Amino acid sequence: MGYNCVVLTKQVPDTKAVTAKAMKDDGTVNRAALPAIFNPEDLHALEEALMIKDQYGGTVTVITMGPPNACNILRDAYERGADRCILVSDRRAAASDTLATSYILSCAVRKVGDFDIVLCGRQAIDGDTAQVGPQAAEKLGIPQITYLEELVSLNNNHIVVRRNVGNGWELVQSKLPVLITVIDSANVPRSPAAKRIMKYKKARAAIEVKKEIAGENNADDPEIAKQIEQKCNELKAKGLLIEHWNLDDIDADLQWCGRDGSPTKVHRIQAVVLKGEGHKQFEPSEDGVRELVHELIEEHTIG
Ligand SMILES: Cc1cc2nc3c(=O)[nH]c(=O)nc-3n(C[C@H](O)[C@H](O)[C@H](O)COP(=O)(O)OP(=O)(O)OC[C@H]3O[C@@H](n4cnc5c(N)ncnc54)[C@H](O)[C@@H]3O)c2cc1C
Repeated sequence: MGYNCVVLTKQVPDTKAVTAKAMKDDGTVNRAALPAIFNPEDLHALEEALMIKDQYGGTVTVITMGPPNACNILRDAYERGADRCILVSDRRAAASDTLATSYILSCAVRKVGDFDIVLCGRQAIDGDTAQVGPQAAEKLGIPQITYLEELVSLNNNHIVVRRNVGNGWELVQSKLPVLITVIDSANVPRSPAAKRIMKYKKARAAIEVKKEIAGENNADDPEIAKQIEQKCNELKAKGLLIEHWNLDDIDADLQWCGRDGSPTKVHRIQAVVLKGEGHKQFEPSEDGVRELVHELIEEHTIG
């Protein structure tokens, strides 16, 4: 018996590549100045789903909510082994906080339909709240297990997961369907396969095709519209058309989406500049290391 997994993945700015241009003058993130990457823990969620498929059969569907260029991580997901990739993109979803994001994603998962396990990363490296997975589980009305470090067993309608709780672990059993958030020590994500790269680097969503063909021209021009339609049909026939759903496609209630559906209010944004002051040097000796460890414990950095 196979299991149908849905993986929620987010495209994020690479926070390891932060430069002086990373923040705008108004204190918001300058996304254009940072390379966009696959949220690191989401690669582990995808790997967990692919491992389930390898062992038990079933399907792996990947969903991302974001702007059209989030298709880059969907192509990556195809190249690593996903069966189906869906972009949820709609201007009316802009300014969604975590509550609205998880609502929209839960509508998309419902539309996928026949799912057994929904997998998320524990946390996105930009928003960093770790709220979207648990909130999506609530909205789907299914149990959740956070911080998966190891999938211990999976049979029939039950899953047992070892979850890392920081200073120890717990074994948690759940019935399916379930939503699980995955941490980075769970597995080693596989690399994209060469054959799949050759195939799926050509995958496009209709919204990308439109941009590539029309450019600055009017996409409604009959000749241009015909070219776009032809290209999309070609891609579809080859299984290379990335599905694009808007909020109507997933039957989302607009009052829970975008700014209207986002109760979070940003009161103030503060730029925190970390200064290299107050550093202390320790001797590279046993005594020096002992002193360093002592200090880290005293300051509750470790322990
Ligand atoms: C008031 C407010 C306004 C905001 N306005 C905007 C805005 O205009 N534009 C904007 O881009 N962001 C905006 N954000 C940020 C946005 O809400 C968060 O980036 C988003 O809700 C995800 O939260 P997070 O990054 O903390 O994810 P986490 O909760 O840390 O993510 C956990 C996991 O959930 C899944 N996940 C999270 N987000 C997505 C996604 N989009 N698609 C698929 N899976 C996902 C992934 O598996 C991820 O590992 C706003 C936030 C607030 C509070």
